[in-house]
Amino acid sequence: MNFHIITIFPESFDSYLKESIIGRAIENKLIAVEFYNPRDFLPKTDNNYKPVDDKPYGGGPGMILKLEPIIKTVEAIKKKILPKSKNLVNIKNKKIKVIIFSPSGKKFDTTYAKKISQKYSDIILISGRYEGIDARVKKIIKSFPEFGISGALSWDVDEISIGDYVLTGGELPAMVLIDCISRQIPNVLGKYDSLEENRISSSEVYTRPEIFKYNGKNYKVPKVLLSGNHKKIEEWKLKSKSPQSVLK
Ligand code: SAH
Repeated sequence: MNFHIITIFPESFDSYLKESIIGRAIENKLIAVEFYNPRDFLPKTDNNYKPVDDKPYGGGPGMILKLEPIIKTVEAIKKKILPKSKNLVNIKNKKIKVIIFSPSGKKFDTTYAKKISQKYSDIILISGRYEGIDARVKKIIKSFPEFGISGALSWDVDEISIGDYVLTGGELPAMVLIDCISRQIPNVLGKYDSLEENRISSSEVYTRPEIFKYNGKNYKVPKVLLSGNHKKIEEWKLKSKSPQSVLK
């Protein structure tokens, strides 16, 4: 799975993507993450200042990310993903999903992440900033001619929100998607069972010590978890199961 991230703040991803499971997935080439800054896809102006944002039509506070730098960036990514030859067999292997982040988009969840992980080879994530992205970006990307290559290439666009709150940018949403989609990819997590939807998983978890004394009070692990009785343990887990657990 290749993630292509369009952002004007690529450094904000550095530490998170280096760590733990996601860091290992990148190292083991199970996933690849590349960054594209729309600033780099603009012609140089005389004073070398390249604006990627501008004032909103209709007035209001904040700036809007301009459409041209973003479209140029998506075009460059598309060129990179698609092989130079017009070999339809090669193109057929490429399934591209473009995701534009917006607080009013379709709500992201594990079911969506699973679908994406199985269906696509390349995901282009467009992170907004300030007051958002010029709305024509979505329309233009949808109109790219690749749609027309008799089903040879899968190419589609979604507007996605990670929750009912407004953030300052699409960088955190991009990291949320990369994390959640990656753990659906075979071998990224250690075992098949690690995926919550393949088992009964609980959000209430414990590890040693069995009893922890704090301010004169004993904090104990529930007895059932020490019983070795798997049936009883599963029943207990069902009561506090994770939202994605199989037995929803
Ligand atoms: N004024 C805009 C919000 C802009 S927030 C509005 O009313 O819709 C700036 C950018 O942050 C957005 O373009 C989007 O890319 C990102 N963003 C903010 N909150 C988000 C959320 N909940 N989910 C996904 N992206 C979000």
